[in-house]
Amino acid sequence: MDATHEVFNQAEPLVGTNLFSGNRALRDALAFNAPALPTAELEQLGALAGSAEMQTHARLANVHLPQLRSHDRLGRRTDVVEFHPSYHALMAAAIGAALHGTPWAGGANAHLRRAAGFMLFTEVEPSILCPISMTYAVTPALRANPALAAEWGPLLASRAYDGRFVPGTQKPGVTMGMGMTEKQGGSDVRSNTTQASADGDDAWGRRYAIVGHKWFLSAPMCDAFLVLAQSAGGLSCFFMPRILPDGSVNALRIQRLKDKLGNKANASSEVEFAGATAWLVGDEGRGVPQILEMGNMTRLDCALGTSALMRQALAIALHHTAQRSAFGRPLIEQPAMKNVLADLALESEAATALALRLARTMDAPGDAHEAQMRRLLTPIAKFWICKRGSAFGQEAMECLGGNGYVEEGGEGVMARIYREMPVNSIWEGAGNIMALDLLRVLRKGRRSGRCAGCRARARTWRERGVRPFRRHAARPHRRGHAGGRRAPAGAGHCARGAGGAAAPARAGVRLRRLLPLAPGRRLGADLRHAGVEHGIRRTHRARAARLTDPIATNPPKDPRR
Ligand SMILES: Cc1cc2nc3c(=O)[nH]c(=O)nc-3n(C[C@H](O)[C@H](O)[C@H](O)COP(=O)(O)OP(=O)(O)OC[C@H]3O[C@@H](n4cnc5c(N)ncnc54)[C@H](O)[C@@H]3O)c2cc1C
Repeated sequence: MDATHEVFNQAEPLVGTNLFSGNRALRDALAFNAPALPTAELEQLGALAGSAEMQTHARLANVHLPQLRSHDRLGRRTDVVEFHPSYHALMAAAIGAALHGTPWAGGANAHLRRAAGFMLFTEVEPSILCPISMTYAVTPALRANPALAAEWGPLLASRAYDGRFVPGTQKPGVTMGMGMTEKQGGSDVRSNTTQASADGDDAWGRRYAIVGHKWFLSAPMCDAFLVLAQSAGGLSCFFMPRILPDGSVNALRIQRLKDKLGNKANASSEVEFAGATAWLVGDEGRGVPQILEMGNMTRLDCALGTSALMRQALAIALHHTAQRSAFGRPLIEQPAMKNVLADLALESEAATALALRLARTMDAPGDAHEAQMRRLLTPIAKFWICKRGSAFGQEAMECLGGNGYVEEGGEGVMARIYREMPVNSIWEGAGNIMALDLLRVLRKGRRSGRCAGCRARARTWRERGVRPFRRHAARPHRRGHAGGRRAPAGAGHCARGAGGAAAPARAGVRLRRLLPLAPGRRLGADLRHAGVEHGIRRTHRARAARLTDPIATNPPKDPRR
């Protein structure tokens, strides 16, 4: 070997590990939220996600970017996006793992299991999960049009992926996207200008012709979209297939693909609707609440996704520092580096715990308490976890030194993670929108009826601040609370914790307590405020002692040590 090019003291890539069995925080959080959940399938997914094969697909899908073919050689519009085969391999794996609409078909803890799988898959490739996430969110919304739900519901839940550009109803499985954001406003969807004109009725209900545009429409090769448009009755939600039942291509024109900071494997487009055919979903004028309901699910996925990216960044940082030496010791043994890694580990575990506690609420649709928890924790988790993502990614990248900043044909996974981090914070409602949403929840909670136990807790809450809420919210729900006066019979319905007991005297004061915005605050402290009791009370020192346990499996490669 050429002596000047001997490579030593470099970390090997982190591949060939089981991302589930090595993720103690994820397993702990699942055991906390659903002790009876079978984990065999997650073990399998963990092995697949950590495999060199899937990591190679992720690299290729991020290097060979989606290409728009707006017209064919003869000048006819085609409006198709072509992907590298690795994109399709990743999509097939994600759908095969039932990360899209499948949980809506039922089953105990189906949503929590899916949330854990979503996190594992994020560690393979997060951007292809955009259409997966949207498919998850639109599946229940489609029930507002029973004819469409009957035909498309089973396809959205199917584990079969079919990337062909043919009518959705001719496929064994489909994906769907969402079109809300327009040039003049994304947060303020009421400003949408796209128009829907009634165009008759058929087997799928009331049909409309849609004219207008969307400034962001991710994954335009989805089989159909739920889009917002103004109809005679106000802003409404419409089902728009890419290919119409008669086999003709719908008038959805892809103007161009976005040139994005990250999220590269996912094609995000600008589109125009030139009289595209769509069917009403729900009632006219109900578009905003319908979209908000979907938004709550995609916001859950933002929290899950960023938690998983944190975990991946932490794992790479641990793996690297265990193999790289400086000043005579592996980096992981240097006291200052231990502190950094311990901070990252603590925050990663807290994010995992919070995101999965939120996901658990999805498995209890009829439980008023869990519904309140979902409503409260969604903006908190989306805001805080996603907001911390970029700073976390930067700190983890720094653990790798200069290597962390280098991509080299997609091999530099840490740099890819860093570029991906901000998107979850912006998508589906940026920080201010989450803060305003939380205020709305708290104000609503104040007005909602409460049982005697909750009233007693609300008094305690007001007197002592947020700490009682933490304990209250962390306990399993009991009928008639012991803490206050005994609740009247049947009071188990009460809005315990989230909106009820948490109802603030002044929402603005409460917001400041729930979301301390001071830079540098760690999620752990705020997580406790948010009502999630988990194994985050251990000291940094104890956490540091466990650092090398699950991940730093490969021995150092430097032969000189
Ligand atoms: C990669 C990517 C993919 C996307 N895919 C899709 C998609 O498939 N479908 C889709 O519909 N959209 C999509 N979006 C759009 C995304 O959801 C919007 O960008 C987002 O909702 C913000 O809307 P906006 O860009 O119009 O920003 P604006 O609404 O202009 O907001 C700008 C800033 O102002 C703040 N703000 C807004 N209102 C207030 C207020 N009242 N008080 C204080 N602050 C406020 C916001 O928090 C934000 O920080 C995508 C975006 C990205 C980056």
